[in-house]
Amino acid sequence: MSGEFQQRLQLLHDQGRLRQLRPLSGRRGCRVQYQGQDLLNLTSNDYLGLAGDMALAEHFYQGLEAGNLLAEYGLGAASSRLLAGDSDLAHSLEDELATAYGRPTALLFNSGYHANIGILPALLGKNDLILSDKLNHASIHDGLRLCRATHKRFAHRDYEQLESFLASHRHRYEQVIIVSESVFSMDGDSADLPRLVSLKKKYDALLYLDEAHAVGLYGGKGLGKAEEEGVGADVDLLMGTFGKAFASIGAFVVCSREIHDILVNFSRSLIFTTALPPVVVNWSRHIFRLQQGMGEQRRHLAGLSRQLRLALEKQGLATAGDANIIPLIIGADQEAVRLAERMREQGFLIFPVRPPAVPEGTARFRLSLTADMQWSDLAALPEIFGRERAANRSGAGAGV
Ligand code: PMP
Repeated sequence: MSGEFQQRLQLLHDQGRLRQLRPLSGRRGCRVQYQGQDLLNLTSNDYLGLAGDMALAEHFYQGLEAGNLLAEYGLGAASSRLLAGDSDLAHSLEDELATAYGRPTALLFNSGYHANIGILPALLGKNDLILSDKLNHASIHDGLRLCRATHKRFAHRDYEQLESFLASHRHRYEQVIIVSESVFSMDGDSADLPRLVSLKKKYDALLYLDEAHAVGLYGGKGLGKAEEEGVGADVDLLMGTFGKAFASIGAFVVCSREIHDILVNFSRSLIFTTALPPVVVNWSRHIFRLQQGMGEQRRHLAGLSRQLRLALEKQGLATAGDANIIPLIIGADQEAVRLAERMREQGFLIFPVRPPAVPEGTARFRLSLTADMQWSDLAALPEIFGRERAANRSGAGAGV
């Protein structure tokens, strides 16, 4: 092996930043086995608790058989949607999405990553400007990099800075697009949607909202923050994923017919990849329908998140945001790695999130609560975390 590769890996290891794959097994709802231990899974995006719901899977399989779907569509799409990989199942899911969101069209992508790297380069060119929240997801940053438009990043949720960019630069560009997540996955906080909508209107810009961590969780029908705040009609591109609360894989964008057609013609991550298997599309449709009636699960999860935040604060631990994702900032990478190991020993599956996924010096735990958890699963966590953290710090000090 090249010495160069070895050096790079060693450096990551020494910095506490080596990423590794970690096979899990024995999944039962929100519990999972890792290295032979049964743990509460606090790192999953299965927010509605549907991915491990065996009764739901059983019901779906029966429907597949009854509808003869496997015989009719096979397992693999075997071609791009633009060639022979399209199916009426995909169109029917898109129609249902468009109807639910009250927007002209919807378009599926193979994942949220595909959507975010494929949308901006398709829509914008060298005379255009993208204004993006600094803490937007890596897939949005990658989309920016693939796009010929100029881009500027405003400080996280700093809408005054966003407005100053718009005021001083809008006139120099043909199109300007504002890009933001609605719920920020590493911080558990939310964008100010009415403010973004008023800025986009005032400066004649487009608004692109990534609702990856909000679909299934907010709004009467689980359509996301824009639904909850009644601003859906003013969001030009609303993106949601099927891979998190919807327990599937894939993503969608709801938008105007024109934007849809531009994406079909220019979005390389849609055109040059094999379409999702029809059976997966059908599962996404199944879940999308079901989740619209899951208000009870949404309320339960919101209550659980409030209760855990309060209990953590009682232990003197600072939390932020108000979503079901609760960030606990640890700071140094090595400390976060050691502490996560200790928490696993105590029965909690937690993996640390380190730079570059989050800013330098803010390595953290991202406690992700799911609707199939009960308070009894979480009650001991604040005290254990407080104790382990204190021990970890003094241990680290003594060792230096
Ligand atoms: N957007 C955001 C905000 C995300 O957090 C993620 C995944 N973590 C994605 C997009 C990518 O979605 P997917 O997992 O469906 O590729």
